[in-house]
Amino acid sequence: MKTIKMKNKPTPCLAPLLSIAVQPKGRLRPCCWWWGTDSNFEKGHNIQNMSFQEYRKTALKTYYEMMEKNEYPVGCTKCNTTANPRYESYNQQYPHLVGKKWEEVKNFKHLDLRFGNLCNASCVTCNYKNSNYFGKVAEQGYYMAPGQMPDSEESRNKLDESMIWHEDTKVIEGIVESLEDVDYIYATGGEPTINPTLHKVMQHLIDENRAYKTTIEINTNGTNANQKFLDMLSHFKKVVMFSMDAIGDLNDAMRYPTKFVQMEKNYQKYNDIMTKQDRLMITPTVNIHNWLSMADMFRWINENNAAIGSRLNVLYTPVWQCISRMPQEYLDIGYKDMLNVGTVRTTHGRLLQTENIVNDVRRRLVNTTVYKKPINNDEYESWDKSLDITRKWFVSRGYNPALTKIPELLDV
Ligand code: SF4
Repeated sequence: MKTIKMKNKPTPCLAPLLSIAVQPKGRLRPCCWWWGTDSNFEKGHNIQNMSFQEYRKTALKTYYEMMEKNEYPVGCTKCNTTANPRYESYNQQYPHLVGKKWEEVKNFKHLDLRFGNLCNASCVTCNYKNSNYFGKVAEQGYYMAPGQMPDSEESRNKLDESMIWHEDTKVIEGIVESLEDVDYIYATGGEPTINPTLHKVMQHLIDENRAYKTTIEINTNGTNANQKFLDMLSHFKKVVMFSMDAIGDLNDAMRYPTKFVQMEKNYQKYNDIMTKQDRLMITPTVNIHNWLSMADMFRWINENNAAIGSRLNVLYTPVWQCISRMPQEYLDIGYKDMLNVGTVRTTHGRLLQTENIVNDVRRRLVNTTVYKKPINNDEYESWDKSLDITRKWFVSRGYNPALTKIPELLDV
């Protein structure tokens, strides 16, 4: 197996010792940061082929024992960058397990479950790989941006097949059997709150009277606040990242076919089940469509005693929606509007200086490898192309592109 040395990791990473991550198509990994592949060793590491326990006893054990000798698999490459290493977060979460021998930890503690592409929305920043709802919307004749739908019926079918692992009874049983020592579950999708397998996992922990000491962290599109789900969730410690990209009609256009009036009510319902130790936060995905309206969202958050996640998720792909496409003067308008708001509420009633948010976005945009600048003479990469796709997306769904406040789109 190809390996790398890690200068800044004096103890083996806890991820293979206590964690497992399942990707939407069922690929198994120690953590969500695991990046590269070693095709020889990783072949067959899919939930469709092997149970959690089989993966733990073979691959994860091998990784952990290699890391004890500071031989890190190439999958860990991303953890060797200047980005905050994921490695550190496991050490902070489980300090009493740092440096333990393999035999001393018998079971998983941390699950990262990405439940295929079952979803009930088709947001402009998303695509069929993350939401099968795009299929319905495409069949109804709505415009699809480049890359939002698989390019053939065959690839769509293939994708569908790989995404339904969580419906397999044997797989569900395997997950439930692995819950014995689990105290942290991160779940996303698709939309995790409508996923029956997550409901089964949660119900099992409630029945075992372990929910109160287990954290459920979810990314939700905020459409599902049905009482049954909220009642289940209320038993757990909670971290809820509530996706809302804008307020009013702009949200409805960007996160088609969700409705902001309903999202507001749903946010409140989630808020009602939060305890002091929990965190509920709005996590907008910043892109060219909502950039000039972020200040409106900050104001809405302040007026409604809501909370925003402390770091904005600035979209970098698909490239046509990245704010690095925008002329600098439009970026400056967005920065100025946000600065004028002064502070925005975050979790536990704390206030974030919008200056810090602005500085963070500015700093990130300097990295043009990630936030690419338009390339001259490249039609797909141009700002005009971004405007063209935006116009088509909004008009096709019955919304005015002027909602974006982008000057070129104000007179459509
Ligand atoms: S070193 Fe980083 S990438 Fe590797 S298993 Fe640990 S957390 Fe994951």
